[in-house]
Amino acid sequence: MQKYDIIVIGGGPAGLMAAGRAAELGAKTILIEKNNRIGRKLSITGKGRCNFTNTLELADFLKHFNNQGRFLRNPFSSFFSNDLIDFFNNLGLDTVIERGGRVFPKSEKALDVVDVLKKWCYKSGAEIKSNCEVKQLIINNDKVDGIKVYNKTENRSIQYFSKVVIVATGGVSYPRTGSTGDGYRFAKSIGHKIIPVRPSLVPLEVEQEFCMKLNELNLKNVLVSVWVNNKKEKDAFGELTFTEFGISGPTILTLSQTVVDALNNNNKVKINIDLKPALDNNKLDTRLLRELNNNGKNHFREILKSLLPSKLIPICSELTGIPADKLCNQISSKERKKLRVWLKEFSLDIKSARPISEAIVTAGGVDLKEVDKKTMSSKLVNNLFFAGEVLDIDADTGGYNLQAAFSTGRMAGEEAVKQCES
Ligand SMILES: Cc1cc2nc3c(=O)[nH]c(=O)nc-3n(C[C@H](O)[C@H](O)[C@H](O)COP(=O)(O)OP(=O)(O)OC[C@H]3O[C@@H](n4cnc5c(N)ncnc54)[C@H](O)[C@@H]3O)c2cc1C
Repeated sequence: MQKYDIIVIGGGPAGLMAAGRAAELGAKTILIEKNNRIGRKLSITGKGRCNFTNTLELADFLKHFNNQGRFLRNPFSSFFSNDLIDFFNNLGLDTVIERGGRVFPKSEKALDVVDVLKKWCYKSGAEIKSNCEVKQLIINNDKVDGIKVYNKTENRSIQYFSKVVIVATGGVSYPRTGSTGDGYRFAKSIGHKIIPVRPSLVPLEVEQEFCMKLNELNLKNVLVSVWVNNKKEKDAFGELTFTEFGISGPTILTLSQTVVDALNNNNKVKINIDLKPALDNNKLDTRLLRELNNNGKNHFREILKSLLPSKLIPICSELTGIPADKLCNQISSKERKKLRVWLKEFSLDIKSARPISEAIVTAGGVDLKEVDKKTMSSKLVNNLFFAGEVLDIDADTGGYNLQAAFSTGRMAGEEAVKQCES
């Protein structure tokens, strides 16, 4: 029977960072991954480019999390974005900072991030076993002693024993990447409370059927707001993309948590799109008046060409009730007002969120109240640590989620080593 100092369950960013760091500090470490290769989800992040962190200052960085700021202050204080950038640079991975402080590998390849992490783990002395699915924690006298594993390659069950176990199994979104919620099951089986999981950063389904005609239309520089029971709750500026089911894109993903919570409470939710956020009502009215005057003998659709992408023109005509072939000099001031209001408040009724399997991140997870924020260790079971998305941590898009996975993973790895030595 082989005995390790530390077993890490899960070869995502949290698990790889935990295992590499623990091994680097001298602990006999093994990482167990159920897929035939590590870092599957990591390799598709940031549309394959991996936006692994953000250069915002800590106070502003924390604002992008949903109420987990207090918990994350410790792991971020010991290993933050500048440390992560240095870490990758020292491993030979050059990085670039893009719009909004988003940091990517210079090669624009998420696979390069997986590759340097894997090499670093091996160089540090960590053992990696892939195609092995952890089925259960072995607990004796309120202390974790090891894990039961099914080795898919050898088609047999096997047990591994260790002084410490780190659970870094991720959430439940994109289950084909391996995150199928196993960590919640492990945590629950030993008495941990699981905050109910729900989709975060998820596309939305829209009632209006015309949305299907807008599939793949990408709107840039729009101001999108969420209205719950006719009260404005939150807004986001940037891009919105129409899909075959409704809407997605950075603004929608950012607002989706607010939408999901409101829908779960049976509220009526609307998304308003301000298509001309740079123009206030007066300026927009002046512009419309000028366009109409300059194009008196042209059809209404002609001036819409300068205001909207072509796919939106028939929708605008339908929703404002102004026929596309009406002459501009016949458009009344009432119709002009309707057009102005529509351009500022293109409104969509939200039917539902897409399923959690399509969410970028899982909200909910192991209750942070039962995890020591200075070590990532369980407050209920000795020698057990958690890291990454298995915890009740979720943030906006922008590199925050991966930084949280790396920082909590690093802290778990370091503290697990201290635990082994004590
Ligand atoms: C499409 C997409 C794009 C994203 N883009 C970004 C981005 O650009 N920036 C950003 O900050 N965040 C992004 N995210 C979110 C980010 O990928 C996650 O927050 C992050 O991967 C969580 O890391 P983790 O290590 O906790 O979990 P995961 O990455 O999910 O890794 C968990 C690992 O544990 C393994 N595992 C699970 N159960 C077991 C078991 N029983 N036995 C053995 N192994 C097991 C899984 O196979 C998996 O490899 C994106 C997510 C998605 C889906």
